[in-house]
Amino acid sequence: MSTTTLLDRTDPLYDRVKTLIPPIEWPVFADDIEAILQLKRERDAVILAHNYMTPEIFHCVADIVGDSLALAREAMKVDAKVIVLAGVHFMAETAKLMNPAKTVLIPDSRAGCSLAESIVPADVRLMREHHPGVPIVTYVNSSAAVKAESDICCTSGNALKIVESLGADTVIMLPDEYLAQNIAAQTRVKVLTWAGHCEVHERFTAAEVRALRTDYPGVTILAHPECPPEVVAEADFTGSTADMSAYVGRARPARVVLLTECSMSDNVSVNHPDISFVRPCNLCPHMKRITLPKIRRALETMQEEVVIDPTLTDRARRSVERMLEVR
Ligand code: SF4
Repeated sequence: MSTTTLLDRTDPLYDRVKTLIPPIEWPVFADDIEAILQLKRERDAVILAHNYMTPEIFHCVADIVGDSLALAREAMKVDAKVIVLAGVHFMAETAKLMNPAKTVLIPDSRAGCSLAESIVPADVRLMREHHPGVPIVTYVNSSAAVKAESDICCTSGNALKIVESLGADTVIMLPDEYLAQNIAAQTRVKVLTWAGHCEVHERFTAAEVRALRTDYPGVTILAHPECPPEVVAEADFTGSTADMSAYVGRARPARVVLLTECSMSDNVSVNHPDISFVRPCNLCPHMKRITLPKIRRALETMQEEVVIDPTLTDRARRSVERMLEVR
């Protein structure tokens, strides 16, 4: 098979990412992409990819893309026998919880998350002991074991709705302190927090936002709610990655900054070539463990399979299902 033929065949895919990947780099990706597309057919597999995946994954091999909430929802509708989760470990666990009979693969099981690792099940039990009767809302960025100790899950996209759906005066929100504080600022419900942080979003500062406004007059600034409250206070809009993407499509700002992980701006910019994206991003080292060669290897070897302790599965799934039932 000549290289020219391979490049010809993958040309329509390159067209999607040509604003982000120089032509000289495409041959590095083309071989893995073609192999992955073939392996997906052979294995009856689909690839679910988070918004923070790099463009060659997000735009060229993924079947379903989105934020944590979309991936959790879509994972329930998948017909294929195999799910490859291009994202971090807690996302793969959630896909497995919603699809216990399917094989769920993660291309690198070391793809963790500073938030998920900030809390263990014993911490949740202790919080419950100290605050009897107070419902526990746990961000999906948590392990299945932590979800199993919780009453209901939330994402950054639905957290306010979930908190207010419980009809409680007080709730415990775990493990993201900033998300909890940002939600507390929008509700009369008292929110008790945990000191977990996203190592990507906690690095943005209010001074950085003010400097962006000085350097790029008229720029529209969107912040993820995992950012510290003082950053959110300086932003024009706050929302999940799905909300940010929708905002850009709706408001069509001439120039925009997305205060979130680096690949998000790349992926959104593909659909909006007329919008100027300023990119002071922070990179998530966990998300970046997922690469095309690792996705290819996962499908070739059917490794690494996500397995959840069966004693946790029903309780953890229930927490996710309760979240999905809130409309
Ligand atoms: S971006 Fe933050 S919350 Fe998302 S996986 Fe990375 S460390 Fe975790």
